Amino acid sequence: MLRTSEQYHEDLFAMKPNIYIGGEQVGRDDHRLRPGINVLDVTFDLAQDPAWKGVATATSPVTGGEINRWAHLPQNQNDLLMKQKLIRLAARRVGGCIQRCMGHDAVNALAIYTREVDEKKGTSYHQRFLDWLRDYHDRDLDGCCAQTDSKGDRLKRPGEQPDPDAYVHIVEERSDGIVVSGLKMSITQVAYADEIIVIPTRALIEEDRDFAVAFAVPGDWEGVSLITRPVWLRDKDEPGAAPFCRYGVSDSVVVFDNVFVPKERVFMCGEWEFGRRLALLFADSHRHSYSGCKPGVSDILCGASALAAEANNIHKVSHVREKLSEFAGAAELAYAAGVAAAVFGRKTSSGVFFPDPIYANVGRRMTGELIYHEYNLLTEIAGGIAVTLPFEEDFHSDDTRAMLEKLIVRNPRLSPEESLKIWKFVENVGASPMSAWYEIAGVHGGGSPIMETIALNAEYDFESKKDLARYLAGINPDYDDSRDLAGA
Ligand SMILES: Cc1cc2nc3c(=O)[nH]c(=O)nc-3n(C[C@H](O)[C@H](O)[C@H](O)COP(=O)(O)OP(=O)(O)OC[C@H]3O[C@@H](n4cnc5c(N)ncnc54)[C@H](O)[C@@H]3O)c2cc1C
Repeated sequence: MLRTSEQYHEDLFAMKPNIYIGGEQVGRDDHRLRPGINVLDVTFDLAQDPAWKGVATATSPVTGGEINRWAHLPQNQNDLLMKQKLIRLAARRVGGCIQRCMGHDAVNALAIYTREVDEKKGTSYHQRFLDWLRDYHDRDLDGCCAQTDSKGDRLKRPGEQPDPDAYVHIVEERSDGIVVSGLKMSITQVAYADEIIVIPTRALIEEDRDFAVAFAVPGDWEGVSLITRPVWLRDKDEPGAAPFCRYGVSDSVVVFDNVFVPKERVFMCGEWEFGRRLALLFADSHRHSYSGCKPGVSDILCGASALAAEANNIHKVSHVREKLSEFAGAAELAYAAGVAAAVFGRKTSSGVFFPDPIYANVGRRMTGELIYHEYNLLTEIAGGIAVTLPFEEDFHSDDTRAMLEKLIVRNPRLSPEESLKIWKFVENVGASPMSAWYEIAGVHGGGSPIMETIALNAEYDFESKKDLARYLAGINPDYDDSRDLAGA
């Protein structure tokens, strides 16, 4: 079944009001959540659109039915390429983050990890996970990923924290399930997701056993509450607002207060040795997702910069052409890294086709480093108007309109109305609460920059590069280069 966005709303608005915004307890129909729900709607609408069949949809390996690609387990290179394409397409439609990748990446990580833990420890998590996934596919559900714990003192391990709630942990194990408590934070989309998928945030040691926990529960499950921060634009709800202003996002602190999780929804319970593996599987899959989403964000910044250049009548000037070409480099190199990660991906024992972690990490690292530079390119081209533009009402007031029109029309080929729309867009893209969100998400989303360094140091074959250097330096005449380029 493929839900329509209307069916998604019906299910969402029937959920219990376990959300707090600014000191108020609210339901999922609160207007401040709407911009984020509008984003999710696009993910359901695309799957209904015949033009995007096979891109926005896939065939479930679990049910054999047609499903939304965001719930899919990639089976081959093409599935990863289609995922990347879908994310870029959808990111462009909503002006940035499509918010469904985290759930997709968590589902994939769980599919692979549950199989591996069963192989090593004789557990039966994989079948349990597939049973949960069957329902997820049958009902076309949307899940968010709650990986990031509140973490307390960063230099203390989970088991060393003075307050154990710094990390979600097992409070009690029963024959029919577990009881968990603790805090996850910065969780995107959870306030309008059907399911919360919980996985560990870091590598664990034996003393951290109680913190080795993974499970999925509905967003309004007993004992779960969400303290939510919506990001929205000033003119969000105004009639005639530009499409960019319809969309937004909410992130939440997720509070688990002695939550009972039935056994059939528990996918890790004390297997601390697999904490690192599960956390990394999510992170590497998510870094591949970035190779679709970040080029979409670059496309938007590039378009805003090119439009601003035209509105300033400087679009043919050489330093502007040079700056615009930098966007092309950022977007397409990141996309190319994602394509390479798909092409050189590997089939895991679960049957899930997983992106090559090296290409996924280098692409993500480059886009994370470039994000502030891209905003700076927009700022350099647009000038200071993004933060000094008078409010829209002043452009409609008889007292001020005529003078303000002189201010915004710099290119005689553009009308005052078009010029105002361009400068409002530049403000919304470059100097709004959403811009700040994208800048910080660009750095920390999917893990802080140091995590890519750690992943690359673990996965990259530095020894083969040393062998090459030894050969070229005349130390090792028997150099064999077949290992380094195997598969390439
Ligand atoms: C917009 C946005 C959306 C997000 N959405 C999600 C989501 O949907 N789901 C989800 O699970 N997470 C989400 N996150 C969380 C994201 O994964 C984290 O922000 C990221 O992992 C960094 O964690 P932190 O914010 O707690 O920063 P910290 O971990 O506090 O990092 C701050 C600095 O401290 C350093 N540091 C931390 N610990 C150590 C240590 N032990 N030793 C040395 N240095 C250390 C880091 O390297 C970094 O430089 C989101 C984040 C953002 C900004």
